[in-house]
Amino acid sequence: MTSAAQREPLILSTWSFAPLGADAAMPLLAAGGDALDAVVAAATVIEDDPTIHSVGVGGLPDAEGRVSLDACVMTNPDRCGAVCNVQRHPNPAAIARRVMENTIHVTLAGDEADDFATREGFVERALLTPDAQREWQLWRHNPTHINREKYRGWLPPMNVEEMDNRIGAPGGVFAGDGAGASHDTVGILALDSHGVLAGACSTSGMAFKVPGRVGDSPIIGQGLYVDQTAGAACATGTGELITGVCGSFLVVEMMRRGATPLEAIKEALGRIIARFSLVHDHQVAMLAMTPGGEWATAAIRPGFHHTVTTREGSRVEDPHAVMLPE
Ligand code: ASP
Repeated sequence: MTSAAQREPLILSTWSFAPLGADAAMPLLAAGGDALDAVVAAATVIEDDPTIHSVGVGGLPDAEGRVSLDACVMTNPDRCGAVCNVQRHPNPAAIARRVMENTIHVTLAGDEADDFATREGFVERALLTPDAQREWQLWRHNPTHINREKYRGWLPPMNVEEMDNRIGAPGGVFAGDGAGASHDTVGILALDSHGVLAGACSTSGMAFKVPGRVGDSPIIGQGLYVDQTAGAACATGTGELITGVCGSFLVVEMMRRGATPLEAIKEALGRIIARFSLVHDHQVAMLAMTPGGEWATAAIRPGFHHTVTTREGSRVEDPHAVMLPE
């Protein structure tokens, strides 16, 4: 890979909780550090925060009450790693990096991914917090926000940050105005001062999912794709929709062929809208960045926010485009 010109460091992340991680990682980039170090550092801070109910410790569990984590990291087609269904360790993005660096493989899953993490020196930690357990119990006994008949009793397609804003279930993590209470997959793209791009994507997946379900987040090309010659993209939202169009790969390939980041994301989201029978709570949002630091975000529906972080700090903003009115 050839090194590009000096760049202003930049971090672009999903959702309004991202400053927590991005502000911790920016000093690394500002000091001339590496984009991959920065995205893993940012993901780790967010994974370790038990008040974020869709990533790492404190993530909402599956239908059986077990928390399982998915993540991947990437800098290039020949430099990526992923883990799925991690249940004993809180930091799947860092574990995914070890898979990339210390094995000949790209993806490890399940118990064996946890065993690998233990061998690599990662410390086990209980992932289910009392808050998340309480949400699971509320969901089991009074799932007012889910049409159980339509979704065969389990599918909660609404994003957690949006659920927080729109449902306000009394006494739950979704109560109140949504400020800082619960959120979704963290997707992070970073450009370092050497012009190198990296990405990380980490999630506890869809809340109350069927045990064993793996979404888009840890799958290279779906939740995340990075190619230094074309750009980087990541996704959040209903993983099954993103998977159906290979969302992040599609966005990067569109940019390779000359699309701007916004045009590329709109193409991917437009395909989802055209090819799926969307229900009201389906949402997908994507971020994209070129090797030169041009970037954009867009979402299918209102409710998504991105975080952009420079040396000056983080700003939480609306996406550049929203494809459907609601
Ligand atoms: N994309 C994640 C998944 O489907 C969830 C999310 O971003 O809300 O697992």
